[in-house]
Amino acid sequence: MVQIMKKNDLIELEIVDLSADGSGVGKMAEGDHREGSAMTFFVKDALVGDRVLAKIIKLKKTYGYARLTEIIEPSPDRVEPKCPMHRQCGGCQIQALSYEKQLEYKQNKICNNLLRIGGFDLSQIRMDPIIGMREAFRYRNKAQFPIGRDKNGKLAAGFYAARTHVIVPIEDCYLGVSQNQDVISEILAWMEQYQIEPYDEKSGTGLVRHVLIRYGFRTKQMMVCIVINGKSLPWSKELIDRLKALEGMTSISVNINKQRNNVIMGDTVRTLWGADYIEDYIGDIKFQISPLSFYQVNPVQTEVLYRKVLEFAGLTGEETVWDLYCGIGTISLFLARRAKRVYGIEIIPQAVEDAKRNCKINAISNAEFFVGEAEDVLERICGSDEADLMLGNGWRKEWRPQVVVVDPPRKGCGEKLLDAILKVQPERVVYVSCDSATLARDLKVLCAGGYEMVRGQGVDLFGQTVHVECVVLMSRVEK
Ligand code: SAH
Repeated sequence: MVQIMKKNDLIELEIVDLSADGSGVGKMAEGDHREGSAMTFFVKDALVGDRVLAKIIKLKKTYGYARLTEIIEPSPDRVEPKCPMHRQCGGCQIQALSYEKQLEYKQNKICNNLLRIGGFDLSQIRMDPIIGMREAFRYRNKAQFPIGRDKNGKLAAGFYAARTHVIVPIEDCYLGVSQNQDVISEILAWMEQYQIEPYDEKSGTGLVRHVLIRYGFRTKQMMVCIVINGKSLPWSKELIDRLKALEGMTSISVNINKQRNNVIMGDTVRTLWGADYIEDYIGDIKFQISPLSFYQVNPVQTEVLYRKVLEFAGLTGEETVWDLYCGIGTISLFLARRAKRVYGIEIIPQAVEDAKRNCKINAISNAEFFVGEAEDVLERICGSDEADLMLGNGWRKEWRPQVVVVDPPRKGCGEKLLDAILKVQPERVVYVSCDSATLARDLKVLCAGGYEMVRGQGVDLFGQTVHVECVVLMSRVEK
């Protein structure tokens, strides 16, 4: 009689691959003849080469999900995870994998997507090995800790336990700088001393919701922003006295967020002490970073990535460059000193304000920024008359780009933007991507429009996680 597989069954699996979200992809061990034993199972926290016991949590027709219950035989690629909380927290999906193998996984992820989705024959295209980090921990310059109570009712900072409103306390997140701990312990001690209530997600009461900490890796300046469910912070002088004693403290502020949702920051920031921002550098470009600004979280590898963008852009000083999805202008400003002029387009007005200010503090006079959807703005100025109108005097007829850089969010560029690029016909397109699947899809469109892929390069900005950045050079095929 054939046995049927069902939910809650324990099964033995050989993990043969890692999925895009870092789950182990398991096949049932030989000798199991239950119906459906050829199915594929996804098992969080299992790694290639593991033999595991797992409990079925969901069954579909050809695949299922199972929870890891025991590692029968560990993969040779396993390392002792630094963080005892890594499975519970879920932020570091592949921390138990050796860093060398993490890089191999990321390189394969990019190549497989380029091959399967984009149809690129990588034996014919230069695809250099991914550039890993020298230090794969403590690389983040930004940390956000929710403040609440742990399961015993004690004040705590950490992360929310899955599907609950209680905080799992975390002494130290190894992706962030070690100074974060000092900030957190001062804030918790101050709350304890003055009986300041943490926010309670369930009831919407209490004051302190989150603590945002930013650290300038080059300048060693530190910013603390307390997100509160209220108008003001009582005993703030006492808090400031504690925090300003910490080395590098430059800016202390509150952010007001009275919304009952899980968005971390509200729109209003009030500086309590020190500057409104901290400063840091990428290459020799200085940036002012305020609590609400977007800023790359791994400054060391961001510079590595931008150096590749610069190399791929092949600038001689004569080019007009468009930087689409420019954020606060990080790439634009990085390229500006080597280009004739750079235009950045970004949808968030606040980010464009930051870009303009960053332009000024670096005395860069050949970069301009526009607010809008990249696809719209680019399409509107495809007609050169309008370009003259939009870009003003002195920029006439000079708007046509030799190089277009795009750095879109995960969903990629979309047809409309790609069409606009094909209309303006730049010599080179440098595509910076945080999702190689949408990258591959978009590159295919550019190829159909007369471009070819010349080079690709992965850069690891997010060690211990499944995320990977990739930069690709596309070149117009001369007819
Ligand atoms: N290049 C920047 C930011 C990249 S993140 C950096 O490296 O820092 C992607 C950016 O695209 C975000 O700032 C987001 O606000 C912006 N964005 C998203 N959709 C957009 C659109 N349709 N048009 C222009 N910008 C967009």
